Amino acid sequence: MSNDTKWICGVGAVIAGLASVHVAAQTGASAQPATAGAPPALTLDAFRGDGAACYDRSTQPQTTVVDSHLHFRPFGGPAVPFEEIVQYLEATGVLFANVYGIGQMLPASSPCTYYLDCPGTPLAPTLRNDFVNAANAVVKTPEGLHLTLAMTFPDLADPDSILEGMELLDAEYPGLFRWMGEVNLVKQAVFANGRGPVPAEAIGGWAGFMAVLRERGIAIAIHSDLGNEEEPTLYLPLMEQVLDAYPDNPIVWVHMGLSRELTTMDPARHAALMTSMLERHPNLMLDITWRVLDDAYFSTPEGRAAYVPFLNAHSERILPGTDFLASRDKDFDVYREELEVNSRILGHLDDEAFRNIALGESYFRLLGLDYEAPRVCGE
Ligand SMILES: [Zn+2]
Repeated sequence: MSNDTKWICGVGAVIAGLASVHVAAQTGASAQPATAGAPPALTLDAFRGDGAACYDRSTQPQTTVVDSHLHFRPFGGPAVPFEEIVQYLEATGVLFANVYGIGQMLPASSPCTYYLDCPGTPLAPTLRNDFVNAANAVVKTPEGLHLTLAMTFPDLADPDSILEGMELLDAEYPGLFRWMGEVNLVKQAVFANGRGPVPAEAIGGWAGFMAVLRERGIAIAIHSDLGNEEEPTLYLPLMEQVLDAYPDNPIVWVHMGLSRELTTMDPARHAALMTSMLERHPNLMLDITWRVLDDAYFSTPEGRAAYVPFLNAHSERILPGTDFLASRDKDFDVYREELEVNSRILGHLDDEAFRNIALGESYFRLLGLDYEAPRVCGE
């Protein structure tokens, strides 16, 4: 039996558990293994301001405590169970995470788990993952972890369907979804699966659901490829159109527009473009998740020279995470490695930027959460 059917049986428990999702433990017992000589792992108590100990970067992990981009559901096939992903977080010191489904799924009848293995098989947006995640989150979120449910169902090319979907989620899980995304504006990797760029004409039709997001103070995280090796800024006008049309919505541009189709752009040119975007669009945030960014950009000498000053200068606009995708062929070692790779650049940042990005301050402010990142010792 799939998880997709389990949630229907659990509505009673779901309702009973509603209050617990966003309520963190006062003294969350940590499941982290104690390492000899290592400082004790952080708990949510370290994020409650007054009296919290400072964070010692020389002895404590350089990995992020926030995974703002974590897909708890795969494109198709079996998923890593929710409770297992939660264990990954506990074991790696991640205390805050966004619970993403996946924007577009393979048909339930498809044997595929990854769309790139099955070109020609259509991907389609669905509410299925969001319901499964909500059902799991309300009863399986351990104390000591703060999870934020994300609506990943929206089809940006069919805006009329988005308010309908939000109403369905509201009816079952009122107030629980505090994030929208990752949703796709243009993703070249899925072109072969029948998902082209969202037509520019559709963007004006977002006004209704974008207004609801503003009322609720919910950010929307958008996957929008900047371009490809031949034309690095080919799709920039689409993102510009969205930012111009909805200047008052908090919008998160995931992966800073980078992708496997764009691994060779000049880092200085890209960082300069991102700087100009942030300056012109005050509600724009950037997500620096996905190991492609470290592999192709952050880990090279030119990349580090361009991005470390950029991230230091704009750290209150930057969100960290992994972009881990919970298909059953993955395990803890994959999550741990993706967390380490995605966090590698963070170790090079100054203390203020480290606090804003790795210790969660930027994330807390965007979400309006009642947490405060600990000060870095000596800052
Ligand atoms: Zn993603």
